[in-house]
Amino acid sequence: MRATEPLRIDRVRNGLGLVANRAFAAGALITPLRGRVVSARSVWRWWDSDPRRAANCIRFDADRYLDPSGAWGEFANHGCRPNAAIMRERGRLVLRSLRLIRAGDEVLHDYSTLLGADDVWTMRCNCGARACRGRVRRFDRLPEPTLRRYRSRGAIPGFILRTATR
Ligand SMILES: [Zn+2]
Repeated sequence: MRATEPLRIDRVRNGLGLVANRAFAAGALITPLRGRVVSARSVWRWWDSDPRRAANCIRFDADRYLDPSGAWGEFANHGCRPNAAIMRERGRLVLRSLRLIRAGDEVLHDYSTLLGADDVWTMRCNCGARACRGRVRRFDRLPEPTLRRYRSRGAIPGFILRTATR
């Protein structure tokens, strides 16, 4: 990995994670997330054959996921008080900072912003934030102030918001 990369994969609180190689101002683009766009059905199959791969998949739109195997997204960890978010911009997923990130900080996003009302997956959380919710659930179960804050920053993709109304 070249020193000019925005991120590196490093040891963090919970195994491996993404660590910033330099500072990012609030709202800055950190990196596009690369990977293979796959059907929801593929991900369901992986829950049986390769659950780790399935768990790493990131929702891409109403019925597809990004399989980030071998790319940054595979190591993007959850935090209940994240410093970044995964957003959908011009047909791709990008990692964007929500506040100042310093070189050496782990870059965390809130998995709930990518869990639609039709997603059933949940995860026990050990992120260490004082406001840790204990369990990661779909976005519409977020505490109201958190949901409002994320929405005001565009941190919840439209295709996720729409799962609550259809
Ligand atoms: Zn947490």
